[in-house]
Amino acid sequence: MKQFLVFMCPTCRHFTNAPLGQQHRRCSYCGKIIDISKAAVALFENQNLAIAAVKEFNAGKSDEFQLAVERSRERLSGLIPSKKLTAEEIASVEGEEGGLPTGKMSRLMRMLEREARDAPCEIDRLRSVSESYRLEWEWVEESLNKLANTGVITFPRPWTVRLVEAKVSGERPSGGLVDVTRDIVAFLTEHGGSASLEDIITHFTERGILQASVELSLDRLMQLGKIYRPTTGTVSLL
Ligand SMILES: [Zn+2]
Repeated sequence: MKQFLVFMCPTCRHFTNAPLGQQHRRCSYCGKIIDISKAAVALFENQNLAIAAVKEFNAGKSDEFQLAVERSRERLSGLIPSKKLTAEEIASVEGEEGGLPTGKMSRLMRMLEREARDAPCEIDRLRSVSESYRLEWEWVEESLNKLANTGVITFPRPWTVRLVEAKVSGERPSGGLVDVTRDIVAFLTEHGGSASLEDIITHFTERGILQASVELSLDRLMQLGKIYRPTTGTVSLL
């Protein structure tokens, strides 16, 4: 049976759990990624016990949590493995170094494509390789949340991330929103690869497309690393 840790989300102060050994999980309450190594933790022998404890602690018995933390301290010392990359893993990432794209979002997408496309990838793993992609972890955390909100990635488990295949043009998600990513690329191509944000929005709203559709599509293109903003108010093809 896998042992579980119970700890508190520093952002929203809800209690939650993760298998022993995981160092990051996404909070189910506020969506922030919790660094478990920085939290006070209580150890439980299996997930059911951990879930019961989470319920109890969330019901307001936080001194019970403190007691559980005290009780766990000794058993935990020596139990938590320190996760280090193997030489092979480091080599496989470094081999990529020369060919890393310049845009931050493109490097993030490259990382996700390599690590989280074929199978879910542990957040811990992303944390340990993000530096090799010249990505700051704080920024990665924020971006993962945005990508999850726009459906580019999912969290199959709270401690894993999976890249969802890019959606095809022409879908109509909801509320009259349409995907105009291809049309934006075509528009930019026609205009020599660059246009002002205002011109893009005007071009599409004059043709009956909602501004929100244009903005969402621009976000998606940005996330896919197809466009970037050289200056505020300007959009260019990468
Ligand atoms: Zn939270």
